[in-house]
Amino acid sequence: MNWKRVLRRLPGLVRQWWLKLLPQVITSCSLLAMTVGAIALVLLVHPLLARSEQPLTAAFNANRQTIAQKPAPDFPLQAHPLPPTLAQWSAPQAGDYFDQIEVVPVNYLVWSHVPITVYIQPPTATELASPFTAQRSQAWITAVSQAVQEWNRYLPLEQVEQLEGANVAVLRSPPSLQLETSTSQEATGEQRERSILRLGRARSAVTNYKVYIQGSLKDPASKPTLALRYTMQLRPDQATQYLQAAARHELGHALGIWGHSRSQTDVMYFSQVRHPPSISPRDVNTLKRIYEQPTRLGWALVDNDP
Ligand SMILES: [Zn+2]
Repeated sequence: MNWKRVLRRLPGLVRQWWLKLLPQVITSCSLLAMTVGAIALVLLVHPLLARSEQPLTAAFNANRQTIAQKPAPDFPLQAHPLPPTLAQWSAPQAGDYFDQIEVVPVNYLVWSHVPITVYIQPPTATELASPFTAQRSQAWITAVSQAVQEWNRYLPLEQVEQLEGANVAVLRSPPSLQLETSTSQEATGEQRERSILRLGRARSAVTNYKVYIQGSLKDPASKPTLALRYTMQLRPDQATQYLQAAARHELGHALGIWGHSRSQTDVMYFSQVRHPPSISPRDVNTLKRIYEQPTRLGWALVDNDP
């Protein structure tokens, strides 16, 4: 071997060897860096994990202790006596659509007292300023009052002037998507929405209900009960007969018929019809069956505090 030739070729050999080795060196460096990084991360996070475990356990135990110390109140499920108007009603041959009624967390939406108070929004100053809107709001009020009178034969209703404290509030505003969103978000307890009679794609009315605790759980003397409140929004810009049909239908929901009939001859038929029917024996039979059911509404909450 000529060592001079070897010496001459040496830089080339070294370069070749180095080029072959380079990828391995890079990989090794990356692996090393990743390993060091991972170890550093574990070291950094571990104390945090270890610290967060302790308060979580403590909080959980504290919560369990709170529950053990103060049990939640019971919500008794019982039927209320039938209002005399419904007790006297009898039309068994007409049938009903009770099987279409929704069972909600309080069971059935039964008013535990009569009369049920209804607030009907009066004309606003803006509406009274124009003969057209003044007349329109008056027609709306007449239609709603008419529906109240019709249902009053089966369940006593009383029109009140104050919105505050009214069991059912009937408002002259078009149901808006924005309002639906806000009502579902602020839902406390139970709250539902229902889209009813449609004109084209626009809703003409919407009714929602809210279950809340009346009285204070901290004060047994206030006799806390689960109470109910309905808000009905009914557009004023509809032909009188549809307005009346919508008011009649929505009021049916607010009295407890939380569901729809499959028959066009019932007020609670799920869609708008050309010739809106008046309250049918099937509507009243269904209402009566609902009021015969047990409910959690209106009963004094039993405090389990020993
Ligand atoms: Zn409906």
